[in-house]
Amino acid sequence: MKAIAKKEAIKTITTHYIDGAFVESHGREVMDIVRPTDGQVIARVTLGDEEDTRRAIAAAKRAFATYGRSTKEERASILRRLHEAASARIDDLTAAMVEEYGGVVQFARPIVESGVNAFLASEKALQDLPLTRSWGNTTVTLEPVGVAGLITAWNANALFICLKLASAVAAGCTVVLKPSELSSLQTRVMVEALHEAHLPKGLLNVVTGLGTVVGAELTRNPDVAKISFTGSVGVGESIMRDGAATMKRVTLELGGKSPTILLDDAVLDKAIPAALVLAFMNSGQACAAGTRLLVPKSRLDEIKPRIREAMRAITIGDPADPKTAIGPMVSQKQYERVESYIRKGIEEGAEVLAGGEGHPEGLEAGYFVKPTVFANVRNDMTIAQEEIFGPVLCVIAYDTEEDAIRIANDSKYGLHAAVLGTDIQRARRVASQIRSGRVVINGMTDDPQAPWGGFKYSGVGREYAGYGMEAFLETRAILEA
Ligand code: NAD
Repeated sequence: MKAIAKKEAIKTITTHYIDGAFVESHGREVMDIVRPTDGQVIARVTLGDEEDTRRAIAAAKRAFATYGRSTKEERASILRRLHEAASARIDDLTAAMVEEYGGVVQFARPIVESGVNAFLASEKALQDLPLTRSWGNTTVTLEPVGVAGLITAWNANALFICLKLASAVAAGCTVVLKPSELSSLQTRVMVEALHEAHLPKGLLNVVTGLGTVVGAELTRNPDVAKISFTGSVGVGESIMRDGAATMKRVTLELGGKSPTILLDDAVLDKAIPAALVLAFMNSGQACAAGTRLLVPKSRLDEIKPRIREAMRAITIGDPADPKTAIGPMVSQKQYERVESYIRKGIEEGAEVLAGGEGHPEGLEAGYFVKPTVFANVRNDMTIAQEEIFGPVLCVIAYDTEEDAIRIANDSKYGLHAAVLGTDIQRARRVASQIRSGRVVINGMTDDPQAPWGGFKYSGVGREYAGYGMEAFLETRAILEA
């Protein structure tokens, strides 16, 4: 870790991307970007204000007058160009995610790649979707909803930008993107990359700033037709409420408290590592993280020592090292939040199977926490109900298959879930009873054409390819008498 603690020049970002060009910020407030591995300031970013946001919205509105009438082939060609432009910077995008956010490279690279691939997945979905259907004297067309505001979280910046932009572009929308202010360096690399796609001016506009300033302006501005948001439940609620005044369409990708059901026929040599990968992906700072591990009571004594042993093999530390599985939390605030939940778990009487409070030994400088596994957790405990957004796993014992399904569904969230077991028919039967937007069987996996999004408090609407594109479309029916 010493190598990355040395003195370096501080980068500065003072511009936004509006109408096809990098323009000086009207907003004057400056924010430090702090590297999570050692707490050093690595960049200063000038934050946009309402005026920057209104300029970006105006540019998107002008561009929509033309782009909103684009053909399928024009959109497909832009999506291919976006893919090519972003592909050229995969290494830089990965490096920025590792440095600015502390994302471990073993997770950061695939997440960047999956973002970049979203452009091609959306192109395929666009080619497959008939934009016009006619019968009798009726013609129905799928029309872009208008200018879209895209607001993203910090934990997988490249993926969120690409996913939302790809869906909007496929649908014929122009956009104003407000990335998380904690992802300013990553966003700069991404926007420089996308600039090389030579988009029509005003199709993509990017204003970095605070949610309460830039995000709030996007939410209330009458020239924005839709908000696609990834972030916390509280902010999602405010966007839905405040957006109602201008009848905004909203897609909300919110939090999770995902269950992993380990069935009693699971092979533990495979199931335990799979459960830990699900729990600790992206250092636990993942909306989909499988943070509730439901295990059969009959096998609990066998499972606990295996988890303890598997935890000892997990590498924590430098996110740039390919061997590292768990890096730092993104910020001091996030560090404190995770620590407070670890404390809460101890107070609630859960058994600390691994980890606990404080920094791991030798990693005192940055925002590292000890990956923690609690056993003897009841599903009604705070640590089993609230999203912690850090590497904290709750092991909850169940009696029967029905009991496991009941516990899995006993959550305000419903974003992601996993089932681990040998009898595939049985695993599918269990999966089909989980109230969540995605269920993976026997380990984490992805499909760029499959929808992403949540039941209940995990959100409204879906993203990815065709499902994501639909969220940016309206239908218009023309009927001849
Ligand atoms: P956050 O809600 O604090 O911020 C998300 C974005 O909203 C940021 O860009 C922020 O600046 C902006 N924002 C803040 N206040 C706003 C306001 N009043 N109006 C408009 N925009 C505003 O969330 P976060 O801490 O960045 O991200 C963590 C959360 O995101 C977790 O709850 C996590 O589960 C969720 N998340 C969900 C998914 C998903 O796909 N469902 C993916 C990743 C993260």
